Amino acid sequence: MDRYVYGFADGGRHMANLLGGKGAGLAEMTRMELPVPPGFTITTEACRAYLEHGREPDRLADEITREWDRFETEVHKRFGADRPLLVAVRSGAEISMPGMMDTVLNVGLGDEAVLRLAEWSGDERFAWDAYSRFVRSFGETVLRLPEQLFQEAETRVCDAFGAGRKNVLDAAQLKVLTSAYQEVVNAETGEGIPGDPRRQLDLAVRAVFDSWNGERARAYRRREDISEDLGTAVNVCLMVFGNLGPDSGTGVAFTRDPATGAPGAYGDYLQRAVGEDIVAGIRNTVPLAELERLDPASYARLRANLRALEAHYRDMCDIEFTVERGTLWMLQTRIGERGAEATFRIASDLVDEGVITPDEALGRGTGERLARLLFPRFAESGTDRPAARGVAASPGAAVGQIVFDSRKAVERREDGRHVVLVRPQTRPEDLPGMLASVGLLTTSGGKTSHAAVVARGLGIPCVCGADQLDLDVEGGVLTLPDGTRLRDGDFVSLDGSTGDVYAGRIPLVPSPVARDFVAPAPESGQSPAQQDAETVHDEAVRDEAVVRAVRRALDWADGHRRLRVRANADTPDEAVQARRLGAEGIGLCRTEHMFLGDRQPIVERLILAETPAERGTALAELLTVQREDFRGILRAMDGLPVVVRLLDPPLHEFLPDLTELSVRHATGDYRGEDRHHLQRVLDAVRRTHEQNPMLGLRGVRLGLTVPGLYANQVRALAEAAAGLKAEGLDPRPEIMVPLVGDVSELRLVKQEAEQVLAEVRLATGTAVDCPVGTMIELPRAALTAGDLAAEAAFFSFGTNDLTQTTWGFSRDDVEGSFFPAYLEHKIFAVSPFQTIDPAVGSLITTALAGGRAARPGLETGVCGEHGGDPESIRFFDRARLDYVSCSPFRVPVARLEAGRAVVEGAVVEGA
Ligand code: PEP
Ligand code: MG
Repeated sequence: MDRYVYGFADGGRHMANLLGGKGAGLAEMTRMELPVPPGFTITTEACRAYLEHGREPDRLADEITREWDRFETEVHKRFGADRPLLVAVRSGAEISMPGMMDTVLNVGLGDEAVLRLAEWSGDERFAWDAYSRFVRSFGETVLRLPEQLFQEAETRVCDAFGAGRKNVLDAAQLKVLTSAYQEVVNAETGEGIPGDPRRQLDLAVRAVFDSWNGERARAYRRREDISEDLGTAVNVCLMVFGNLGPDSGTGVAFTRDPATGAPGAYGDYLQRAVGEDIVAGIRNTVPLAELERLDPASYARLRANLRALEAHYRDMCDIEFTVERGTLWMLQTRIGERGAEATFRIASDLVDEGVITPDEALGRGTGERLARLLFPRFAESGTDRPAARGVAASPGAAVGQIVFDSRKAVERREDGRHVVLVRPQTRPEDLPGMLASVGLLTTSGGKTSHAAVVARGLGIPCVCGADQLDLDVEGGVLTLPDGTRLRDGDFVSLDGSTGDVYAGRIPLVPSPVARDFVAPAPESGQSPAQQDAETVHDEAVRDEAVVRAVRRALDWADGHRRLRVRANADTPDEAVQARRLGAEGIGLCRTEHMFLGDRQPIVERLILAETPAERGTALAELLTVQREDFRGILRAMDGLPVVVRLLDPPLHEFLPDLTELSVRHATGDYRGEDRHHLQRVLDAVRRTHEQNPMLGLRGVRLGLTVPGLYANQVRALAEAAAGLKAEGLDPRPEIMVPLVGDVSELRLVKQEAEQVLAEVRLATGTAVDCPVGTMIELPRAALTAGDLAAEAAFFSFGTNDLTQTTWGFSRDDVEGSFFPAYLEHKIFAVSPFQTIDPAVGSLITTALAGGRAARPGLETGVCGEHGGDPESIRFFDRARLDYVSCSPFRVPVARLEAGRAVVEGAVVEGA
């Protein structure tokens, strides 16, 4: 690249990879002629070169000097020569990492500059406050001196003046505080902070580069899957002051509500404050609308700028701004972070407003976001009264045990508990604790405080600024306004969509979106975007808006997608649920559940049977219960395919555990059973015990070695279907054979099945069409797919077992044991059990080619967990499978992603 430094006027929004998100936004606003303070950006490339070689690249110093000279000239031209040249030095990566890297403010201050600042501002206290903050932050952030030394110095000075906090010190006292901080720096470094602003700048830039590799930045990147190699840009921008008096302040604004997506500007404002005060949640902010009363002219300009930005970016934007003595300055903009609900609502509203097309809207709402909307909210019992109310900072309901300390939150999470982290406010080092929590509660700070921003990004429900609560972190007590004292481990419930906090546990109810799938609401003619913004507080309207937005997104996706979406469902209830969620059939009915629970004694009798007659009786009993289950499922899916997989797990899974049984046998613990029976069960368990059950007597091997087992299942299915057909319904059963490795296995089962189907046809007088297909879940099956297709009416890829057998990973063990190390070593970026592995993908394409060549028009699908994974869905779409099958609640997600895959593919092909 030809340069390392860009003036704000030289860049643009499409340069985020080089200028970082913040630098690109500042450049774009400068181009749009919005009021941005002068400045320049040092590129991510300069940072990468610095991190790689351990020193700044050669040309950087000259380029900074050139830009600094231009900057100085511009500041003097625009503001006059008496304005001190102080700059803010801020990080800004391509992908936002809020609060994870360092910032140094007021760079350029020194013993003389502070006097000029006092003169220019006419406010001596302000100047010394800025200088004291600068010395401390330069010492801590740039020179890496321990915070504690500065804190001790501050306490000494405050004590000497009888002041409880430094905020009450006057100008002369702040001067003393500044000296005390300077003494710390001198004592620790032997030389103090350099007086030359340019030297300060170089050190500050280096500190920001270094903070890319700071602990919190690395932890955040790991969690968010952000590449380690990107590096951060550094923005150097003229300081503008929001703390100069009542006509100054600072704020954050969104062009729409980031939680609900409702139209209308939204945000927080803090009079007499700098941006850091808002993020730190030191004082509680006021709603943005208050600015209209405090400073109508700035408010009007801000609203105009917000409108201009939204029209320009064609999306909801968030911005940071400062008002310095009645003059509005725009300090940052970007496409705004938003909650799941807002994602769909904003996309849908922008389509109504003619700003974006439905295809673009589809690109904006991911399946993962939709999945969040399918989760529960609180039940409205009418009796639960909120104990307190804070700021609704990140939507969703959470119930968990209180923990006051981030470290403990991590420990408890590891113990499998759900915790709510309660803090006065959070700081970046709380991130691990926040990640471990189901919800966050802070007693200060607003919607844009650290806790709120991070929680929204992570999708964790959060209530901020609940200042009616009295929090004693040391004592471990949270006192509610009514005097109730909650301690560590007590339950608390919070609603991040309303800001309500409740003592104890509140039951959760399904989300309106999930509810809509169960009982679709009548069509509403009016678009929510056309409704009055004030109705945003009306829950019903809000629910209707999000439900409508989600339905539209799914309609758009359904209009595009090639893949059909079926569900993995094993019971009539699940089948009903799946159909409501849009399933176009059942792709996998695992028949194992029909062998569990109160049917277990029947299965036991089958396994223990010593004569054909005993076996026959047990099978007859199983026939009855399975037939009832199949009837329910086929009825729920009337007219749609239901793929019934014959029994797969090894039989000993239906018997008691070997160790437990051996102990009971040895200790004579018969629990009322007869001794002889216990002995027989134990013998059977020993007989069926395997070292590697996953590679043992399961799937088709079971069907071929336990006489009558599969025939019995086929009979139950055929009789159920024949019965429904006689009722006038349209059952569409299909039989699927698991764990097939060779065509002869399939052929034997198929012959047996066809025989049974013919018998049922004869007995009932009803012909049921019931294709027999195979799972492809062994490499051998994939490699001999051509042979299999000669017998199989369809293929369904069992990608769980196919991944297990391709890698040789035990699917039940490895994720919890050595996968973290594999992920750390980057052997793979995500578990191959989650997203389809390329080699497993090759087996699938090989099998498809072989299968389709032998049987043109062969129906193909996938029923492993990958069927609901967005990235895998893209692969299955490209491979032109006919359908994916996933758990019922994943069905809408798969529908959405299957549509998105087609639209994205069209964009790529058209590009
Ligand atoms: C599979 O192996 O992918 C599959 C769907 O079968 P199961 O998970 O029941 O083994
Ligand atoms: Mg399997």
